[in-house]
Amino acid sequence: MADAGSSGSRMVMIFAQDACRGCLRCELACSFHNLGHHSFQPEASSTRVYRDNDTNRMTATVDTTCDMCEHEDHIMCIHACPFGARSIVHV
Ligand code: SF4
Ligand code: SF4
Repeated sequence: MADAGSSGSRMVMIFAQDACRGCLRCELACSFHNLGHHSFQPEASSTRVYRDNDTNRMTATVDTTCDMCEHEDHIMCIHACPFGARSIVHV
C-alpha cells in the first residue's frame, strides 16, 4: 500500500480488506496530522478508503503526500482504526 524508509530499513503499510468497515476514521486522523493538529478535513488526507458497491470490497490508497507520520507518536491512520485493518511491517 505505501512504503518509506532509508538505509536498508523500509516500512510497508498493510491493509486488511476484510477487516475494514469503511468508517473513514483513518482519513480523519491523517488529515489531523497533515493539517498540523488544527482540524479534521478528509480532503487533506493522504489515504483514501473506497467501497466497491457491487462486490462490497474495500480498497485503500496512500498517495505521495504520506510521510509515514513523521514526528508523531503513532502512525495516525493505524492508531485511529478501531478494527485493526491497517498495520506496518518492516522489510
Ligand atoms: S502514515 Fe500518516 S501520513 Fe501516511 S497515510 Fe497514514 S496517517 Fe497519513
Ligand atoms: S479506520 Fe480502519 S476500518 Fe475505518 S475506514 Fe480506515 S481502515 Fe477501514
